[in-house]
Amino acid sequence: MSDYKVSALKYRPQRFDEVISQEFVTQTLKNAIKLKKMGHSYLVSGPRGTGKTTIARIFAKALNCPNRKDGEPCNECENCVEITKGIHPDVFELDAASNRGIDDVRAIQDAAKYYPVKAKYKFFIVDEVHMLTQQAFNAMLKILEEPPPYLIFILATTNPEKIPQTIVSRCQRFNLHRFKIDEITDRLRNIAENEKIKIDDESLFLIAKLGDGALRDALGVFDLAVSFCGSKITVGELKEFLNLPGKEVYFKISEYIKNSDASSILKYFDELIDLGFDLQTFFNGISEHFRDLLIIKTTKNLSLLDESDVIRKKYLKESENFSEEQILRILKILFDDEYRFRSSGNQKILLETILVELCRINKEVIDLEKLITGLEEFKKKTSDISFAENIKNTAKYKETSYRSEYKSPPINDDEINIRLNVSTDIPKSGHTSPEDMFRNMENKLKNMFDTEEVDINNNQ
Ligand SMILES: [Zn+2]
Repeated sequence: MSDYKVSALKYRPQRFDEVISQEFVTQTLKNAIKLKKMGHSYLVSGPRGTGKTTIARIFAKALNCPNRKDGEPCNECENCVEITKGIHPDVFELDAASNRGIDDVRAIQDAAKYYPVKAKYKFFIVDEVHMLTQQAFNAMLKILEEPPPYLIFILATTNPEKIPQTIVSRCQRFNLHRFKIDEITDRLRNIAENEKIKIDDESLFLIAKLGDGALRDALGVFDLAVSFCGSKITVGELKEFLNLPGKEVYFKISEYIKNSDASSILKYFDELIDLGFDLQTFFNGISEHFRDLLIIKTTKNLSLLDESDVIRKKYLKESENFSEEQILRILKILFDDEYRFRSSGNQKILLETILVELCRINKEVIDLEKLITGLEEFKKKTSDISFAENIKNTAKYKETSYRSEYKSPPINDDEINIRLNVSTDIPKSGHTSPEDMFRNMENKLKNMFDTEEVDINNNQ
C-alpha cells in the first residue's frame, strides 16, 4: 500500500469524457473547441468538489494540445503534461481565497500584456473568484473589456451571486450541479476495482453520502477507509472507524418513539454518547431518518432513498409503524428545534428533551386521531339538524321532562331561548349534552396544542 496515491488526484479526470455527470458543460466546451468559437472569459459556478477547476484544466490542455482529437487533449505532449503537473508557463492558477488583493490582479494584468511563451493560449484560472476585492475586480474588468486574442479567463466560484454583474455579463456561464449519490457510488466502485479493494455496497453508499454531493470529499473518505481497513472494507468496520451511528441506531430510536418509551430512549441515547457519537450528526440523522420514512410512507417509491437496497426495504417495513400524521408531527418538532439545537450551549440536555417530546407526541397523535374520529361521528349525528337547533331541542326535552315530573305548565320556544343563555337553570341529567361534549372536546384539543384557539367547525 506504500505507493497508494490520494484518489482525488490519481483519479482526477484528464479528458472531458472522464468527467462524470456534467455532460452539458463538457460537451459545450468540446464543441466550442472543435468549431473554434471560444469565448475569452468563462464563469464556472457550482458547489465544492464538483469539478470546476478540473474542467478548467482540461479546457486549457485541449486548446493548447497539438495532438488534440475530437476536442480532447492527448495528455502526452509537453503542453498537456505540464498543465497536468501545474507547471506550464502559460497556464496560471490563482486561488482568490488566499490571493485576493490588487497586487495579484496587477500581476495578471502585467502577464496579460505578453504573448504566451510556448502555447497558443494563455490561461488564467481563478478559483473562488468571488473572494477578490472590489479593486481587484475593477482591475480584472479592464482586461475583460478588451482581452488580447491569446488570453482566456476561467473564473470558478461556489458563490456566483457575490460576483459583480459587470464581470458576470462578460462571461459565458456554466453551472455545475452536485453529484447524485449513485454517480459517486459508481465512481467509487470503479476506483475500488482498479485498486483491487473489496468493498461492500453499504460501505460505498455510506462513503458517497458522507461526500454530500462532492466527489472529492467522498474520495477523501474512501482513502481514509482504505488506510484503516486495508484492501477489504466492510460496513461494520467502516462505521467503527468513522465512529458513525449506523442506520440501525435510528431504527432503534424510531422503535422507542413508536412505543412511547421515553425511559428506554434516554438510556439508549446515553449509551450512544458514551460511545462518542457527535450530537449534531445524531440530530441530523434522526431528521433524515423520519424524512426518509415520510417519503416512503407517502410515495412507496424506494428509489427515492439514497440508500442501499437492504436499508430501503427496512424503511418500507418501518413506514408501516407510523401514520403520515405521526411522521409529520415528529418532523415538525425536529425542524422547529433545529436552530435552537445548533445554537444551544447544552446540546445534550436539549436533545434529551426533544427525544422525550418525540416519545410523547406519538401518543398524542393517536389520541388526536381518536378525538378527530369522535368529532367526525358527532358531526355526522348532528348533520341532519343545525347545531343550535339540536342544543335547543335537547334543552327543551330536558325542561319538558323536568316539568312533567313536577307537574309544571309546558315550556314554549321563547322561554327555552332565555333558558339557553342562563344554562345553569337547566337541571343536570346523567347524560352529557351535545354542548358539553363539544366543549370537552374543544378543551381537550386546546390543552393538547396549548396554543391557539381551535376552531372545531373548521376542522378538516
Ligand atoms: Zn497534448
